[in-house]
Amino acid sequence: MSRIAYVNGRYLPHDVAAVHVEDRGFQFADAVYEVCEIRDGHLVDPTLHFERLERSLGELRIAVPMSRAAMLVVMRRVARANRVHDGSLYVQVSRGRSRRDHVFPSPAVRPTVVMTAKPVARAKGEALAETGIGVITVPENRWERVDIKSVSLLPNCLAKQAAKEAGAREAWFVDAGGFVTEGGSTNAWIVTVDGVLVTRPAEHGILRGITRTITLKVAAKLGLKVEERAFTVEEAKRAREAFVTAATTLVMPVVSIDGSPVGNGAPGTTAPALRAAFHDSTEMVAI
Ligand code: PLP
Repeated sequence: MSRIAYVNGRYLPHDVAAVHVEDRGFQFADAVYEVCEIRDGHLVDPTLHFERLERSLGELRIAVPMSRAAMLVVMRRVARANRVHDGSLYVQVSRGRSRRDHVFPSPAVRPTVVMTAKPVARAKGEALAETGIGVITVPENRWERVDIKSVSLLPNCLAKQAAKEAGAREAWFVDAGGFVTEGGSTNAWIVTVDGVLVTRPAEHGILRGITRTITLKVAAKLGLKVEERAFTVEEAKRAREAFVTAATTLVMPVVSIDGSPVGNGAPGTTAPALRAAFHDSTEMVAI
């Protein structure tokens, strides 16, 4: 089946869909993005994704390109055109196209909007969650404003590539104090030997993951104790469980860190329980 991409008001065959060479997303990573889960023909947590997208746009002073209702119409059309029942939807908004100059175009130009959707085999993710994944640790070398979901992802790409080459699935950034910030494309969590869930506060040094937000909700519903605080690599290695969260991985057990097993080296009980209960707490909008 041929894939379709949305580019600035047009639904184009994926192979020919393109932005201009002087698009600022392409030139400067002067753009923001969102990735939403699609599950059972529903867009998962669109309101939270819209809120974060609008916040990221506001932080970079890029105009909101269309209303939420209009964006939902495009999202639905992209998901349907690509026959995505389970998968993910990608949205990128750049500052737009203008002659290359580091300063913002003045007057402002129309933001570029791109959307694509791709299916995933849900069974694959579930099978992976049965065995869990490995992570490696890398020095935190990203720019400080990682709270903005911008496309400045070069350090993340390098870290995830290093993870792959080390036989792991994810890399956890570690700050100068030895504390884990987050993963290359996920938020990081541990469960202490006392059963307390620990994840770094979202104010500094991490992206406020939508999956993280929902996982906190699910944890409260399950009556689990949560501490939003930073944790070190050493603490993570001694933890009973570790896991990562993202729209693409959901709650994914981590079974090794830099080659050291977490717990007994297999998924524990907390992460699978959070994963199983996750979609009872999400907003689901038919797509
Ligand atoms: N942290 C980073 C750096 C990410 O890139 C992502 C997702 O891509 C996340 C965390 C998880 O965010 P979400 O749960 O909204 O997918």
